[in-house]
Amino acid sequence: MATIILKSKEDIRIRRGHPWIYDNEIARVEGEPEPGGEVEVRDARGLHVGYAFFNPNSKIRARVYSRTAKKADEEFFVRAFEAAWKWRTFCFGEPAIERRMSLRLVYGEADSVPGLIVDGFVGATGTEGLWLSVQFLSLGVEMRKAEILKALRSVFNPDGIAERSDAPVRALEGLPESVGVLWGSVPERIVIEENGALFEIDLLGGQKTGWFLDQRANRATAAKYVSRAQWADSPNKAIGARVLDMFCNQGGFSVLAAKAGAASVLAVDSSHDALALLRKNAALNSVSDRITIVEANAFDYLRDLEKMGQRFDLIILDPPAFAKNRAALDGARRGYKELNLRAMHLLERGGVLVTFSCSHWFSPEMFDAVLADAAFDSNRRLRILEERTQDLDHPILSGYDESRYLKCRIVQVV
Ligand code: SAH
Repeated sequence: MATIILKSKEDIRIRRGHPWIYDNEIARVEGEPEPGGEVEVRDARGLHVGYAFFNPNSKIRARVYSRTAKKADEEFFVRAFEAAWKWRTFCFGEPAIERRMSLRLVYGEADSVPGLIVDGFVGATGTEGLWLSVQFLSLGVEMRKAEILKALRSVFNPDGIAERSDAPVRALEGLPESVGVLWGSVPERIVIEENGALFEIDLLGGQKTGWFLDQRANRATAAKYVSRAQWADSPNKAIGARVLDMFCNQGGFSVLAAKAGAASVLAVDSSHDALALLRKNAALNSVSDRITIVEANAFDYLRDLEKMGQRFDLIILDPPAFAKNRAALDGARRGYKELNLRAMHLLERGGVLVTFSCSHWFSPEMFDAVLADAAFDSNRRLRILEERTQDLDHPILSGYDESRYLKCRIVQVV
């Protein structure tokens, strides 16, 4: 097996749990590793660090998949998937065990399979079955597709497997985008159940893997605040909460808020396709009469709402990742500030803001600072009610900050 020798001290970060080895951290390569092949990683003194996938065409030259397992073969993947499943049944208990719950089954590096994302979607009444939506985001897993498919089938026994390798990060690994059915059959539409509501999703055409599973618990939590909006100094207290769901996608937050008794939900997104699914989801849950759907750019529309003198009791702000790298941080700061400032203007005194940032580059400290700045500029005070993150099927690995990406702050504007 070819060997990568790290420069002095470059093993520390890896030994603390970070699985990526950058090109400039390598002192030398012994042997001739194949692109995507397995290599042993050693520190500057020659001591074993782990085994990794090698990619000569990526800045991330190697990704550690194990400290002890030499070969990443079918058996390796079976063991990794079983371990990932065991962890999810530990976290979610019965619903997961009985396979009634749609879950992220494999979360890449955080589940020891660098670059592999597997979401499992369980069809509710009428579309029973289990379908997997998979992203191959590193050369190592791309080259082992056949073994991975076999292992997925033997561990999860799905009815079909869809590939959603249309993420831009594929280009950084030297890979083209690829979408399609990899195995079995995948229905055009599947209806899943989440938090007691039904959602129709499109595995091959929706954004990312078809549905954002990481927000499951946050959607339920946001819905809880619908009834508490009665504490807001709202002139229409008796009528019920007016909710704004900005960046609503297919309505995960909107539908739950409406089901929780919101008087009205204004759902805004720039994606026509996502909104078409939201319309169906509202109907599926019999809440169409209380959800108003608007296709618009969030930045423009927030300004329009302010001009129109609109007010809300609960606002959800779930924008896409503004900072995709360190260089984008300043722009991201401005973007988050603008959105949160506008939202604070639109909230009734006592109203609640559920606000997110999903780029790991934008640290919790940066996000909190932006919220404090926005509060200052809007002449409001914030009471921080909850600090939350992604749901448990997206495990956070100590030492690997990329897995600590979603920040959620629930604040009351007083
Ligand atoms: N809240 C959603 C997930 C949001 S993902 C859920 O619970 O599932 C981010 C969403 O922002 C996507 O649906 C995308 O279409 C939308 N989006 C991206 N840029 C936008 C913009 N400038 N204005 C409005 N929507 C935007």
